[in-house]
Amino acid sequence: ASAKPSNFLRQIIEHDLAEGTYTARRWGGSPGDAAHHAAGASDPAKIRTRFPPEPNGYLHIGHAKSICLNFGLARDYGGVCHLRFDDTNPEKEDQEYVNAIIDTVHWLGFDWKASFNGVSSTCLYQASDYFDFMYRAAEYLIQAGHAYVDEQSAEAMRINRGDFGAPGVDSPFRSRTPAENLARFREMRDGRHEDGAMVLRAKIDMASPNINLRDPAIYRIRRATHHNTGDKWCIYPMYTFAHPIEDALENITHSLCTLEFEDQRPFYDWLLDRLCEGGLLQAPHPHQYEFARLNLTYVVTSKRKLAALVYDHKVNGWDDPRMPTIVGLRRRGYTPEAIQLFAERIGVTKSDSWIDYSTLEGCLRETLDVSAPRAMAVLDPVKLVLTNWDAVMGAGALDECSAPVHPHLPALGRRSFKIGKEVWIDRSDFEETPPKGFFRLFPGNKVRLKYGHVIECTGCVKDAAGKVLEVHATLVPDTKSGTPGSDTVKVKGVITWVAVADGIPAEVRLYDRLFLDAQPDAGGKEFLASLNPNSLKVIQAVVEPSLASAKADDKFQFERHGYFVADRVDHTGGKPVFNLAVGLKDSWGK
Ligand code: ATP
Ligand code: MG
Ligand code: MG
Repeated sequence: ASAKPSNFLRQIIEHDLAEGTYTARRWGGSPGDAAHHAAGASDPAKIRTRFPPEPNGYLHIGHAKSICLNFGLARDYGGVCHLRFDDTNPEKEDQEYVNAIIDTVHWLGFDWKASFNGVSSTCLYQASDYFDFMYRAAEYLIQAGHAYVDEQSAEAMRINRGDFGAPGVDSPFRSRTPAENLARFREMRDGRHEDGAMVLRAKIDMASPNINLRDPAIYRIRRATHHNTGDKWCIYPMYTFAHPIEDALENITHSLCTLEFEDQRPFYDWLLDRLCEGGLLQAPHPHQYEFARLNLTYVVTSKRKLAALVYDHKVNGWDDPRMPTIVGLRRRGYTPEAIQLFAERIGVTKSDSWIDYSTLEGCLRETLDVSAPRAMAVLDPVKLVLTNWDAVMGAGALDECSAPVHPHLPALGRRSFKIGKEVWIDRSDFEETPPKGFFRLFPGNKVRLKYGHVIECTGCVKDAAGKVLEVHATLVPDTKSGTPGSDTVKVKGVITWVAVADGIPAEVRLYDRLFLDAQPDAGGKEFLASLNPNSLKVIQAVVEPSLASAKADDKFQFERHGYFVADRVDHTGGKPVFNLAVGLKDSWGK
């Protein structure tokens, strides 16, 4: 295998491993914390990364970038990547999402088992398990004079924070003593105050040029039932407070996040430095690094916007094959290999950009081309009648044709199907009056039925409106593919087909881009306005008999048409349903 291309994160990790940056480190929590488990198997010489989704929706292709990055780095450097649910926001979170995320990360090919020095552990965590520690950390900050309870209204707090041009104004509550603050904070915890009546704020610097350091809120009152801790708490830590603590308790070495969090890094360091000073954590603490988020054209990658598509019934659920969710991509026919290849190909950088959707499709096409069995399918069937069949082959006769399952994988064997007097062909393969450069069926022209015989078109039968009902042709004797002398008759066109005698009817779902605008939500645009009204077309097709044994999730190349997958949800042997995964060529916009 070729070496992975380097990037700024690989360089940082290689440097830290060479310098032994984290070898001095031991777990710094108190025994009894849930976090103890994280360190139980800790080998200080290893790197630890984490993928920390909030369980408030289904993962999308942007998350896949982060998953492949975090788990991939841990794998490549002999470390471990934690799967951690960042569940500090009880109103929006749900066990359904927790389960779906676990399934998705597994399906993508990653695992959170670690084995160091013969001790193995499962590195699956949830931030809510650290609420006790976080609470103690907050009390420590109060006692050390680094936090205070602020009773200003939310509006006053916002105004007094100031903006980039002007320094903030100190809260009148900022000079309370630690004892007063501690008493108030305990009242908050004990449910003695209304939601929103006050917050706990870190006491840093109201004049900092970085707004995030102007005494950020770290705890708020929220009476909400949490899917893990139930009604134990009525105060919850803010994300910016919780996240660094989660990383530190789990001995994360390299905490990777998207560029929007760059301005949060000073607070991340401030908080962990204070907790190390207080002996609640041990240095060196984790370091945050930022990388560019994935922006993919023709889709939106925000759980909130994807949820809107689902709840407004713009799509048929989170796993609709048009959705950029991982479950949607999976149902569309994407494989873990294709998504991993995509993540590798786009790389990681520190500057935001848009990746074209066709890059993702190219990865799927490449992985399916080398693996997917081939089959013939007629997507828009019209009947072709071989008018001399009975005379040449015998009345009612059927002949047997065969083809390799995969042109480059002989081990997969061959598939066989019948040919008879009547076969289905694609409507677009016949033109009564051929345009220039058209080499398929038109009266007087010869083509080959792929894997079958050469035929010569003689005409067609039409209805009163001029619609073609049947195409007529004659079989050219002794031209069957694979028989001696079969290639003496030269033809310019080869068409795919399925015999009426053994073709199977199938529903085929043809998918197109979900949005017409390449950047549907850029610059605050109303993304729903550019929804593609024709992103799904359902047709009745006829497919070759080898597909009778197709199982849900099996992928195929329908020759000349593209890659298709038997729908994971709706496909059955008795009622086949195939989804278009990706075309044979990048034809978007052409
Ligand atoms: P969304 O805005 O869709 O809700 P999020 O970042 O709030 O996304 P989280 O569940 O918090 O969702 O994300 C988990 C991890 O996935 C984070 O570490 C985040 O950096 C990463 N992530 C989310 N979206 C992208 C993206 N588009 N590109 C790269 N990484 C992403
Ligand atoms: Mg988030
Ligand atoms: Mg979000």
